[in-house]
Amino acid sequence: MSTRKKYRIAVIPGDGIGKETTPEGLRVLDAAARRFGFDLELTHYDWSCETYAQTGKMMPDDGLEQLRQSDSVFLGAVGWPGVPDHVSLWGLLIPIRRGFDQYVNLRPCKLLPGATTPLANRGPKDIDFYVVRENTEGEYSSVGGRMFPGTDREFVSQQSILTRIGCDRVMKYAFELAMTRPRKKVTSATKSNGITFTMPYWDERFAEMAKNYPGVTTDQFHIDILCAHFVQHPDWFDVVVGSNLFGDILSDLGPAVAGSIGIAASANINPEKAFPSMFEPVHGSAPDIAGKWIANPIGQIWSGAMMLEHLGEKAAADAIVQTIERMLGEGGPRTRDMGGQAGTVDVGKALAEAVGKA
Ligand code: ATP
Ligand code: MG
Repeated sequence: MSTRKKYRIAVIPGDGIGKETTPEGLRVLDAAARRFGFDLELTHYDWSCETYAQTGKMMPDDGLEQLRQSDSVFLGAVGWPGVPDHVSLWGLLIPIRRGFDQYVNLRPCKLLPGATTPLANRGPKDIDFYVVRENTEGEYSSVGGRMFPGTDREFVSQQSILTRIGCDRVMKYAFELAMTRPRKKVTSATKSNGITFTMPYWDERFAEMAKNYPGVTTDQFHIDILCAHFVQHPDWFDVVVGSNLFGDILSDLGPAVAGSIGIAASANINPEKAFPSMFEPVHGSAPDIAGKWIANPIGQIWSGAMMLEHLGEKAAADAIVQTIERMLGEGGPRTRDMGGQAGTVDVGKALAEAVGKA
């Protein structure tokens, strides 16, 4: 009997350029699977803003049940002009993140050859870190309310909820990730000088977790100065962990300092693998270039590499990332956002071919 591993992947191309980048992601994944000897069993779902226009729903009522059968979800982009965010986001992405307890949002921030960082005098060695965002609680807990609307007594409040389990599990993830990296450093994003209950607690849990990892260096910064340091000293960072809001801010800033939005990748992870995790590029559906087949597929392809790493195929994941770096470094085909002339499919094909025989 064959011992070949098989992974079940739920594929949701979604909207706009998601429909163009997802096939290229799959092309490269397929090349990696052949070369490294595993199988991917794909199930395609057409859930999108188009489905919403037809059915009034972003996904069917039993959508999560359907995805539950898979090992991972591979997503393109969701959202389209005319469909409000609260429909597209809250009808598809948020239910998946919450329903599958994907409590880590992970984004690599790495300057690739040929990507143009907005920072002066910075090369690839200077920007190579991860942002680890808490993805389930904190400032986005939806606890609060509005009273006396429309009167002069009107007031609103919204609470930030931190739980011990919630802090500990995301911090543990950050430390474990740092352990796999040469520098072994974790930076915590805080604001305990202004937010006087939750953030001091965050700091306490961070200090407590650090005790379990004597080999890992730590530091912490308030979110305001941390943003400045991302721009002025990106080379200081290795793994940066933040609450839901602070992580949200940093996980947009990080890929931005590392250059093109088209190459940035992200993962929504349930590390225990109790539920499927979800992998998607950082960019959105890009209505301005959708249908032109000029979108950069590298963010999607890199997200696919993150998916393989999560599934346990680290060699295949590394091969994809190294091939992207090598191809860009050698002046291989690149899309317009990176100063080239190649189309989405050209880049996907070139990468798939190189991954297949790397
Ligand atoms: P969302 O709200 O869904 O995140 P958005 O409006 O923030 O979407 P994007 O859809 O990511 O933004 O697009 C922002 C800009 O970046 C657009 O001009 C778009 O064309 C460009 N862009 C995004 N992704 C890519 C890509 N893969 N390749 C080239 N350009 C891209
Ligand atoms: Mg956006």
